[in-house]
Amino acid sequence: MSITTTLSIDEIRAQFPVLDQQVNGKPLIYFDNAATSQKPKQVIDALSHYYNRDNSNIHRGIHTLAERATSAYEETRKAAQAFINAPEAEEIVFTKGTTEGINLVAQAYGRKFLKAGDEIIITSMEHHSNIVPWQILCQQTGAELKVIPINNRGEIIYEEYLKLLSDKTKIVSAVYISNALGTINPIKEIIADAHKAGAITLVDAAQAAPHEKVDVKDLNCDFLALSAHKMYGPTGVGILYGKRLLLEKMDAYQGGGEMISEVTFAKTTFNDIPYKFEAGTPNIGDVVAFKAAMDFMSQIGHQFLHDHEQRLLDEGTKLLSEIDGFEPIGTAESKASVISFNVENIHPFDLGMWLDAKGIAVRTGHHCTQPLMDIFQIEGTVRASFAVYNTVDEVAYFAQALKEIVSKFRK
Ligand code: PLP
Repeated sequence: MSITTTLSIDEIRAQFPVLDQQVNGKPLIYFDNAATSQKPKQVIDALSHYYNRDNSNIHRGIHTLAERATSAYEETRKAAQAFINAPEAEEIVFTKGTTEGINLVAQAYGRKFLKAGDEIIITSMEHHSNIVPWQILCQQTGAELKVIPINNRGEIIYEEYLKLLSDKTKIVSAVYISNALGTINPIKEIIADAHKAGAITLVDAAQAAPHEKVDVKDLNCDFLALSAHKMYGPTGVGILYGKRLLLEKMDAYQGGGEMISEVTFAKTTFNDIPYKFEAGTPNIGDVVAFKAAMDFMSQIGHQFLHDHEQRLLDEGTKLLSEIDGFEPIGTAESKASVISFNVENIHPFDLGMWLDAKGIAVRTGHHCTQPLMDIFQIEGTVRASFAVYNTVDEVAYFAQALKEIVSKFRK
């Protein structure tokens, strides 16, 4: 097991000011990382530095601050290119996040190239943001949405996927890691088989980017969307990676400043990629601070992130399994650091509230995956999701707290 950082977990934790507080009289234990992770000081400082020193609009100004802001903004694009191993910086489009990235592809690619009778394939474990944009596209074009079924462990049934693929399939859009189950999908194979059928592919990497080394060249995906805020970065920023040839032939997504080459009242010609897709003044400060988040992750190293989080997952799964009435939801063989569960006869919201009273932040509900909850015939789950600053002691405290709650309320 190679570990790339020389920092201890205590030293890593010390970089996250928010963790150093009491909630309801107890030390905060933050296990809601799949919703959004906390931000290290270097990200907060980068944002504050930008507004203290460099704030200006980008690309159009010739004064010093405009040049500084433009260069910092474009530096993040290059950092993102390196982070996901994209062939070209122009293939990185800044978005608000994963949701916007998927909507962009559905509208700017899908509306132009799909027609009635075409098919789009997704999995049963998609976040609403990888369902609804395709449903809208289907309404607009007459295309049809097909869904890959899953087994009771929460893994896709691969033979069923192969059966769904045909020459009607135009887009396969799949989640890399499920936010509700933690399942790590065989995404490289999914992409390769989609390509064999002549379809293009989109990867929802919202949960993969914080945990796995995401390499778009190796995956050979056509599009990939992610969100900075799940990767120790700011909210309101994400990237859409797209292969140059596809981005170039797509329509514009929104009209406005920056995305144009020339405008007359009669006609507009569009800017080159990626600017064609970045209409209006973007979220400059947060884009700039996103680079600090990727730097933070690179300094820690993907191997360390992976190994540490797997340890938390293994320890948590072992301890929680000992609790009376514990029902895990999502037991895939290949799993990221998410434990989704119910406890027999206790509502997940009640568990979430009682855990909060003990300073433990978990997510409860359907996790924006209502169709998946329907498959498991449940209303929702309690979800504990781990990040690099979480510790084995926190996991043990959480398991003990849950045990106490359950023994008190299941009588
Ligand atoms: N896809 C997955 C798997 C997610 O977990 C999320 C957020 O929870 C999203 C998409 C949407 O991300 P965002 O809200 O940052 O656009």
